[in-house]
Amino acid sequence: MTGSLTVVGTGPGKPELMTPATQAAIAQASDLVGYGPYLDRLPAARADQCRHASDNRVELDRARQALSLAASGRNVVVVSGGDPGVFAMAAAVFEAVEGGDPAWCGLDIRVEPGVTAMLAAAAEVGAPLGGDFCAISLSDNLKSWTTIERRLKAAAEADFVIALYNPASKARPHQLARAFDLLRSVKAAETLVLFVRAAGTAEARVVAAPLATADASVADMRTLVIIGASTTRQVGRWIYTPRSERGSVS
Ligand code: SAH
Repeated sequence: MTGSLTVVGTGPGKPELMTPATQAAIAQASDLVGYGPYLDRLPAARADQCRHASDNRVELDRARQALSLAASGRNVVVVSGGDPGVFAMAAAVFEAVEGGDPAWCGLDIRVEPGVTAMLAAAAEVGAPLGGDFCAISLSDNLKSWTTIERRLKAAAEADFVIALYNPASKARPHQLARAFDLLRSVKAAETLVLFVRAAGTAEARVVAAPLATADASVADMRTLVIIGASTTRQVGRWIYTPRSERGSVS
């Protein structure tokens, strides 16, 4: 009996943003593994599907559990939010493969792409990711704050639009304010900052402010923060970054 492991993402929240391929993988699963609230976003489990809900902090354990189940012949789906490859479970699965049972390398492991928060957040406001952009997670659970600051500074100096994931949590309330301080030392005071909460859901909410006065306490765990490039601007009620470096089509 050969099992399989598919890593999927639910998208940012509303069911229409979960891809049909992800829905099909979930429908075919014998076992669903993931953080409880992500599993709750799925349609009701069939009686023959086992759900293995876990805490959000034990990603490697969850990955190993999923791999063991697949190795025993089960068809396992590991569920992340957004896209599974963006600051999420897909990398945890491959980390577990690398450090685990050599037989796991022979497993049928697949990753289904999903709509990541950055794309849903951008769509709420217009097209702020229209030029070159980068994504940085502000969580220092898995990397040092020194590394985060080095990357923020480099991204600011290169004038990327910067999408900030994990801007704040109860355990890390002050990091976004520190990030803003650093960005203010490099970028212009009028640089646009967008706080997009619950993007891609019915509760989506957007706050826009210039970097000089942007209030870090607006952000929580469900917020994606976008820091504009020098060309990011407002037109009517939308915000966009022109594709042209000169800021206009000529
Ligand atoms: N794999 C996920 C990201 C996990 S990191 C993805 O691809 O979207 C978790 C962070 O993602 C949150 O702290 C928040 O910054 C962001 N996030 C996730 N869903 C969001 C949503 N609906 N709206 C805004 N930000 C969101």
